[in-house]
Amino acid sequence: MENSDSLILQVAIDTPLRRVFDYLPPPVTATPAGVADPPRPQPGIRVRIPFGHSTKLGVVVAVTDRSDVPRAKLRRAYELIDHEPLFDPVGFDLLRWAADYYHHPIGEVFAAALPVALRAGRSAQAHPVEWEPTALGLAETGSPSDRRAPHQRALLAHLQAHGPRPTAELVAVFDAAIVRAAATRGWIRERPRSTLPAGVPPGAAPRLRSSPIELSEAQRLAVAAIVESAGRFAVHLLHGVTGSGKTEVYLRAIATLIGARGQALVLVPEISLTPQLVERFQDRFDSAPAILHSGLAAGERLEAWRRARSGEARIVIGTRSAVFAPLPWLALIIVDEEHDPSYKQHEGFRYSARDLAVMRAQRANVGIVLGSATPSLESLENATQGRYRKLTLPERPGAARAARMHLVDLRRHAVDHGFSQPAIAAISTHLAAGAQVIVFQNRRGYAPTLYCAACGWVATCAHCDARLTLHRHPAGLRCHHCGAQRAPASHCEACGRDLHPVGHGTERIEETLVRLFPGHAIARLDRDTVATRGAIDALLARVRRGDARILVGTQMLTKGHDFPEIGLVVILDADQGLFATDYRAAERLAQTIIQVAGRAGRGARPGEVLIQTEFPDHPLLRLLIDAGYEAFATQALAERREARWPPFARLALLRADAKDPARVDAFLHAAARLGHATPGAAGGVVLLGPASALIARRADRHRAHLLIEAENRSTLQRFLGEWLPRVENLPAPHGLRWSLDVDPLEVD
Ligand code: ADP
Ligand code: ZN
Repeated sequence: MENSDSLILQVAIDTPLRRVFDYLPPPVTATPAGVADPPRPQPGIRVRIPFGHSTKLGVVVAVTDRSDVPRAKLRRAYELIDHEPLFDPVGFDLLRWAADYYHHPIGEVFAAALPVALRAGRSAQAHPVEWEPTALGLAETGSPSDRRAPHQRALLAHLQAHGPRPTAELVAVFDAAIVRAAATRGWIRERPRSTLPAGVPPGAAPRLRSSPIELSEAQRLAVAAIVESAGRFAVHLLHGVTGSGKTEVYLRAIATLIGARGQALVLVPEISLTPQLVERFQDRFDSAPAILHSGLAAGERLEAWRRARSGEARIVIGTRSAVFAPLPWLALIIVDEEHDPSYKQHEGFRYSARDLAVMRAQRANVGIVLGSATPSLESLENATQGRYRKLTLPERPGAARAARMHLVDLRRHAVDHGFSQPAIAAISTHLAAGAQVIVFQNRRGYAPTLYCAACGWVATCAHCDARLTLHRHPAGLRCHHCGAQRAPASHCEACGRDLHPVGHGTERIEETLVRLFPGHAIARLDRDTVATRGAIDALLARVRRGDARILVGTQMLTKGHDFPEIGLVVILDADQGLFATDYRAAERLAQTIIQVAGRAGRGARPGEVLIQTEFPDHPLLRLLIDAGYEAFATQALAERREARWPPFARLALLRADAKDPARVDAFLHAAARLGHATPGAAGGVVLLGPASALIARRADRHRAHLLIEAENRSTLQRFLGEWLPRVENLPAPHGLRWSLDVDPLEVD
């Protein structure tokens, strides 16, 4: 190897700065005695470095021989941590590409991709068995007069005396917390035991257990099309109505495509809400998939990540950030419910896991399946343009039939606490016939408004431009935007008269159901009833066993649940989304209606769906009910084209907030001026705003944004590349935060 001292490491560090940092490689003496094969400087490995007055971990993104910083000023890294890059080459390139595309600080991008345990310095190797002192640790033992952290020092001395020791021994002699603390300090590290195997992954090829299910013709064609594209990039848009057996298609395609040496990545919107999908993968394959999601303990997540990287896990199922999992033998990607908004990260590094999955498949030259009963409009447009290949599952297999949908005109029927007479009658009929019933209301709490009929006073949040929601259990007025709480008032603050709850949240709907249908057990699914993973599992199990006869809930109900005994779905209020200002509101409403409706009639029992509305003639609703999702989507796409919204334009949103509205305004105006003066803006870019956010004040911060609209992706990228560095150089007013959102889901 060349003299590593001429090398410079470009390191991505978890800071909000949009740059990499240059370091000299660690001194050769940083290699502890007894390690025969020290780590080499190379892209993709972690490195421990001095940063300001602290020590941080970073990821080497490039190794070069030049730097803009004079050599004498460069600091030296303390130690290299990994023997091999953490990521497979495609996964590594994807991260660098994503930092560019989303114009996000690269250190934060790498941090988002790594399990917490790896950010804290744990080993990336599967099944590490031994610990050894690091260079930092050895330096510490050289200053025995220091009396801080005596237990960790004792641990260091133990390792120095006895050589690398297994975890079990250290935990027994010292304590797991002490081992962890010493590792976090960077005094000890796990000793790599093996290197990444070349060629074939070590995990056995998972086999699909035989099943009585015989594929329908449409399923068979879909599997064949996916399998046929083996070894090259192809996007399959699998549009299958709810309950049409998409999961079965995934299982068979995976079984065939991963064969003797491949890996499959399966992305799902939310694992806790759909334990069934994971169970089906576990039941049907003879080897366990690795599961990656944010609800895991740090150790479990690290273990799943290591199994993905080592190839022991041949199937990896995960949420959003699993798109960054290391998969050296990737052969197929599945994105289930590709339309789901939770694929988009809403803060920090605002990426779309669905879009990045497509990019990853392209770079890895593998197929990808985007599955949904309600595909996003951009994916449908991509299919129309021939970029995606559309596969359709038009009906449910076996005896199950799509549920019939009816609109109930709320103006023509008496309404009892949110329930129209036809809805009450239908619920009675279905319950009497032994079916289960779902009631959908996308509002949690008891009532969204507390109101004084005498003077018009309304309970509002002291910190937000928003009303407080009344809750009964536990009782209180809560702000759903900032979390503020106060005791429920019974008298008007303005005139002292009685206050009235107005509108219906799920709590109140449940109360009404108890009164209307006594003797029928009710389960409520919203963020207040299922705060923990265990609570979700217990509640879903109650519904599946049939112990609960009525299930009332919010958006959480839309997530792919498969309950065969649901006969009726009632959507209490379709109107919330009808007149919303956001360009995507209609699409969301249609997806919500179709997804909730899709919970009915999944077994042998025919299903029925009632949708309550005050606008039964609304063209969007009519089209959706009479002609179906695809007809709706065609119409909605035509409107988007007309209005030049995505996918017929590309957006980015510069958001800013501060306690002082004048600062937000000044900053965004300055950014807009820079934008108009940016050469890229001359062709095909329009800046709109600044405009206030829908909730202009949240948690005492004033929020506004500037919308950038470009005719296509490359125009937008060119503009952002020129403009953003100038925005960064604007003098940042005190206390102001800003962020850029490329391809925002909401213009707010
Ligand atoms: P989706 O994912 O499209 O909503 P699922 O894959 O959950 O649908 O399938 C719905 C139900 O239909 C499941 O219980 C599944 O076992 C069953 N199923 C799938 N394919 C078939 C088939 N070809 N024949 C009979 N039942 C099937
Ligand atoms: Zn608030």
